[in-house]
Amino acid sequence: MNFRYKLMQFMSGRNGIDNLFYALFAVAAVISIINCFVNSFVLQFIIWIILGYAFFRVLSRNVEARRRENQTFNRMAMGFKEKRNVRRQRKADYNHVYKKCPACHAVLRLPRRKGKHNTICPRCNKQFKVHVFKA
Ligand SMILES: [Zn+2]
Repeated sequence: MNFRYKLMQFMSGRNGIDNLFYALFAVAAVISIINCFVNSFVLQFIIWIILGYAFFRVLSRNVEARRRENQTFNRMAMGFKEKRNVRRQRKADYNHVYKKCPACHAVLRLPRRKGKHNTICPRCNKQFKVHVFKA
């Protein structure tokens, strides 16, 4: 009980454990599993740097800066998940292909017909060729 109280007192005003900590810890764990096979000094060094940074963040008293780091990380993770969802949706859409317009980079959803086709981008009206390999 006394130890827990001391720990709580020690951790008050410090950043503590957040999502970024879990992510850093997971990355370090994955690298150390890889390092079981590779046995590289460089990898071991990287693991120590990652863990050092992770625990530095837990104990840091600059809570505001750590919160910003964690927010940035959360936003990046969300963006990654969203991109993965979009990729999955497009893959499940068997009847269409998704092509980027070379001029304005808009993504066009086109019917999946095998062969070469001419397409006009509805956004910038540029005509370009689309090559569909698989019907
Ligand atoms: Zn365009």
